[in-house]
Amino acid sequence: MNKHIVVIGGGTAGMEAAGQLAQAGFAVSLVEKEKETGGHLNDWYKLFPDRRNSSEVRDYLKNKVSSKNIEILTGTYIEKLHSNKDGFLLSTRDGTELKADAIVVATGFDLFKSSRKEEYGYGIYDNVITSKDLEAMFSKGEITLNNGNSPKMIGFVHCVGSRDEKVGNFYCSKLCCVTAVKQAIEVREHLPESRVFCFYMDMRMGGAHYEELYREAQEAWGVNFIRGKVSEISESINNKLVVKIEDTLAGRPLKIELDMMVLMAGMEMSEGGSKIAEQTGLKTGENRFFSPEDHHYANNISNIKGIFYAGTCTAPMNITETISHARSAVSEVINYFNNSRA
Ligand SMILES: Cc1cc2nc3c(=O)[nH]c(=O)nc-3n(C[C@H](O)[C@H](O)[C@H](O)COP(=O)(O)OP(=O)(O)OC[C@H]3O[C@@H](n4cnc5c(N)ncnc54)[C@H](O)[C@@H]3O)c2cc1C
Ligand code: SF4
Repeated sequence: MNKHIVVIGGGTAGMEAAGQLAQAGFAVSLVEKEKETGGHLNDWYKLFPDRRNSSEVRDYLKNKVSSKNIEILTGTYIEKLHSNKDGFLLSTRDGTELKADAIVVATGFDLFKSSRKEEYGYGIYDNVITSKDLEAMFSKGEITLNNGNSPKMIGFVHCVGSRDEKVGNFYCSKLCCVTAVKQAIEVREHLPESRVFCFYMDMRMGGAHYEELYREAQEAWGVNFIRGKVSEISESINNKLVVKIEDTLAGRPLKIELDMMVLMAGMEMSEGGSKIAEQTGLKTGENRFFSPEDHHYANNISNIKGIFYAGTCTAPMNITETISHARSAVSEVINYFNNSRA
């Protein structure tokens, strides 16, 4: 089509969108602020629901962006963009400028900073870790405490930084329940002698095969699910984590000693996306993610003509949903140029 599209963000959404755009005949620049493409996919070891290795999806995406129509610019942070009569001009942090006829924003999400929930002791107690830290341990093939021993009693706290008025995040991050279930199974696989507890407010397993995984965790792996809110984590003199919980099913307070606690940090609008939103006037919602023109039938279209959204920059999504969303963004880009020609 002799048009140049800049895709901002080289995660799952950006890579899928860039690949599809190149296939449709556009010249594409895929711009990623980190040294490598892949986004959060690089942080996960095995994926729910089927526990396939994340490297399979990474290979699929790398292959997708190997077209000669795609220029990949890594280590390049897009900070500003504005429209002019010829299209758009984007500025990078180091002052380089890029021209575009249309833009796909695929700036993704950031994990909630768990240290903001001081009562859980992340950054204070070494054996309080996040779901991302646990994935790094899975990839190394060893789950260890700070003293090098294997943990025997492991807990998972759900809803860290999501559905939480105190931190200003009312929404559900949608994927942390199923991630906790997948990780609980993996811990039991690695450490068959261990006991695993998930502390949840509600189990939200609304995806294909999620409920089956939840059942498997209970029936085949003996994971204990306790409906209750963790109010405080502290450390005892013998290095155990002392966890206070309000058991909302039994209606009484509980206290349990654990070796390791995993915080299921939620998803937030990325800093890279927020900066672009502030500077361009792209609309964001109450949840601070980009707000598309219509959630039902214009979910990729922004309030600025020629700028489109792909992936989790608009809401929490799993990989399947992210890839579908990126594909529909490409179809909106094609419609945009077809309509402007008509
Ligand atoms: C704990 C956890 C576990 C998960 N596990 C699974 C799983 O097992 N299975 C599954 O289906 N889904 C899983 N997901 C969801 C999955 O991570 C997302 O669906 C996927 O990463 C979304 O891709 P994305 O491209 O939208 O965002 P991201 O992966 O966040 O990619 C966005 C990219 O944009 C870049 N960027 C941001 N701003 C700028 C800028 N201004 N300039 C240049 N580059 C920029 C970032 O550096 C990043 O590389 C999990 C999510 C969480 C929170
Ligand atoms: S998916 Fe589960 S853990 Fe995550 S915010 Fe929603 S209810 Fe909480």
